[in-house]
Amino acid sequence: MSSIIIRMAWVIVQRSMWGNTCIKLTNPLLCDKNTRMELDVIDPAAAPWYADGLKFTCTQCGNCCTGGPGFVWISKIEIVRLAEFLKITPEDVVEKYCRKVAGKFSLIENRNPATGLYDCIFLKEIPAKGDGSVVVHTRRVCPVYSVRPLQCRTWPFWEMNLSSQKVWDHSSRRCPGINRGKSYTRRQMEELRDATDWPAAPPTSGGEK
Ligand code: SF4
Ligand code: SF4
Repeated sequence: MSSIIIRMAWVIVQRSMWGNTCIKLTNPLLCDKNTRMELDVIDPAAAPWYADGLKFTCTQCGNCCTGGPGFVWISKIEIVRLAEFLKITPEDVVEKYCRKVAGKFSLIENRNPATGLYDCIFLKEIPAKGDGSVVVHTRRVCPVYSVRPLQCRTWPFWEMNLSSQKVWDHSSRRCPGINRGKSYTRRQMEELRDATDWPAAPPTSGGEK
């Protein structure tokens, strides 16, 4: 049995993300990573292109936490979790770190004067250290990694990235963790893609980002 799935919103996301692959969504009407309407004709019985699994391990480059203007949506329960982590009230989290867009909360972003890009408010640069004998690159880290929102936790296994090999490979241009390291099965990826709250085993670098 075939069905018609309209994905107009997805097309909007896809267009905007092709030039700017990052965790941030770029349309305020798209309030979750899987928002979609119907358009393409698909055969639900057909195995997806990623059926044999895909690889991903974060390299901690920080590219996905910056880019063009966008949105990192955060739910009310995630605001409470973030507040507990930061040892402040949920109201303070909203006041200091969130903005309201289309009735929902998104993390504030700041224009980075050095790059001209829009960084998530939590993105921090860790200066390079070393004795001069080896090149050590600056790392960009997320100080709230253990309580990062669902949108961040499920990258890169979003519906848009899994929609085609072409989109997946395009995303790998700015996310060097894609196509390297740990293997994910179709089931693991689809559980992450469809998650509505924090998955038990989100993709990570194996440590704090
Ligand atoms: S490797 Fe990918 S997920 Fe990890 S920080 Fe870089 S862009 Fe983000
Ligand atoms: S919360 Fe952390 S992981 Fe998510 S966009 Fe901000 S810095 Fe990146």
